[in-house]
Amino acid sequence: MANLDAPDIRSWRTTTGREPTVRIGIVLDADDMKVLHIETPDEPYELRGRGCPTRAVRRSRIEARLSDNSVLVRVDNGTLERAPFWRLVPQADQPVEHGCGALVRDVVAGRGFHWRKTIDQHLTGVLELRPARHGLVLVNETSLEPYLAGVITAEMGAECPLEFLKAQCVVARSWLLALTEKMHDGEPFDRCNDDCCQRYQGTDELSDVAIAATTGTRGMALLDSQGKVVDANYSKSCGGVSELPEHVWGVHKPGLSAVVDAPPGGVEHRFNPVTGDVFDEYLNGAWIESTKVYCSPNVVAPKDFARYLGRVDETDDYFRWTIRLARSEIDETIKAHVPEAEDFVRLHDLRVASRGVSGRAISLVVAYLDSAGQHREVTLPSEYRIRQALHPGFLFSSAIAIEIERDAAGVPEQISYRGAGWGHGAGLCQIGALGMGLCGIDHAAILKHYFPETQLSRVYP
Ligand SMILES: [Zn+2]
Ligand SMILES: [Zn+2]
Repeated sequence: MANLDAPDIRSWRTTTGREPTVRIGIVLDADDMKVLHIETPDEPYELRGRGCPTRAVRRSRIEARLSDNSVLVRVDNGTLERAPFWRLVPQADQPVEHGCGALVRDVVAGRGFHWRKTIDQHLTGVLELRPARHGLVLVNETSLEPYLAGVITAEMGAECPLEFLKAQCVVARSWLLALTEKMHDGEPFDRCNDDCCQRYQGTDELSDVAIAATTGTRGMALLDSQGKVVDANYSKSCGGVSELPEHVWGVHKPGLSAVVDAPPGGVEHRFNPVTGDVFDEYLNGAWIESTKVYCSPNVVAPKDFARYLGRVDETDDYFRWTIRLARSEIDETIKAHVPEAEDFVRLHDLRVASRGVSGRAISLVVAYLDSAGQHREVTLPSEYRIRQALHPGFLFSSAIAIEIERDAAGVPEQISYRGAGWGHGAGLCQIGALGMGLCGIDHAAILKHYFPETQLSRVYP
């Protein structure tokens, strides 16, 4: 049963001492879904449409259609009923188990990324249907703990070691409880279900180990030196050194620091920070052959990624990688994503202007020719904009060296990126934390490694 007196996440404070509820956007306006299909399990639910009689449903097929700023709903091929919004509310306690909850068809995963696809997923808790400008919005209102079990299995595969999943769970819980990043303002949910916030795919991938990781860390969060919950970030692979939030989002976050992702005392510690002088050595030096960096292939073999990474990821070597593109492909992505490059005709040069402590480019100059054949320049001011502009499918990371092959007239033909890591690199390194878990290191030590300035503490029972 939905716990109606639980505090919502927006009013939750460390002092509340209770598990909050959270509203997650499952289908967003941008997904442009005019019709949705939901199937309820063999459990009692109530379907409540404002202004309509409440109806008990069980093992029912519900079809929802966007219509004139309201939602038309039909149950089991019955008649269509109109309401400004609808809530589908479970009437009994729901277990946190594989495949439990109501089934929602065709939910978008990997929104805006090259791996975008649609999947069917089961969700426990309340489902709320609302109209928006382009399509229907589906919100899942759920207690925090079942939500977290769905996050850790969507973010990483269910075969991951327990201690790693526990660490991931604490970080995901902390990030949500801190709720400091402004996202989805004005929308009827707190966070979405995708990489823009954190990935959540309901109960379909839940495994015993993921449930054990959630229950085993119930209510545990990272606190900063002031006792506030840390806005703890994570990304797939730091590449050897983690990044500071100042260089990713331009803000200081208490409790986040830059760390070398290797055991103490190793040769890797000379790379903090990864400055311009050591960048080539960091990217390609002989040290990589035998490194003990936790996210390197020496600790987590790329052939094992398929077992450990979530089901919507590609498998490759994310620690060090090379990508080669034709200039024409980059011209297209710059036209699409860099509107400030006015009258852009073709790329002439790419120059990294500054790097963060992990070697990630945080400012990059795009030099180009306009339609009059004049040289012009624009500067991309963040790692996100750089990754978006330089690759049609979003570059793995901005910790890159760029090589440009030119024809006899000096016109760029091919562009190669040699890069390190995957993601923004701030906070927990997921592949590195997985590597630590595979090495037998417990979750408290994993968290202390990535967040040395924090304390692990229980914030609700
Ligand atoms: Zn989001
Ligand atoms: Zn790492």
